[in-house]
Amino acid sequence: MCNVGNYPDEVKQHIRQDVCRNLVAGYEVGDAANCLLHAPTIDKNKDEFDRIFKERISRNDYNFQAVVFPARIAATLQNVDYRKPTTKKGEIAIILEKIFAPLQAALLALAIRRKFMR
Ligand SMILES: [Zn+2]
Repeated sequence: MCNVGNYPDEVKQHIRQDVCRNLVAGYEVGDAANCLLHAPTIDKNKDEFDRIFKERISRNDYNFQAVVFPARIAATLQNVDYRKPTTKKGEIAIILEKIFAPLQAALLALAIRRKFMR
């Protein structure tokens, strides 16, 4: 049974019903088992993920609650400043950038606040 993520049990039950459905919880990350959609890693079967994703979209089925997208699909969902990474390292760099850019903005805001709050 898929662990889904950090949610209350009744929420997990709904997500399992609506999102995991009949997928097997074949991904073990840490001590939790997850289905392909919810495995908290970018190192997953992207072709299979792609297939399920496109198949559901084609049925106007957009419930992707708590789903962890592998890097390549996350990149194609980016819009304007989309840059296609050519290497695995490039993919990771873009993911890190997504994490650190907001963090830097937050630190800058904090620094500015400190300067004027004195
Ligand atoms: Zn799942």
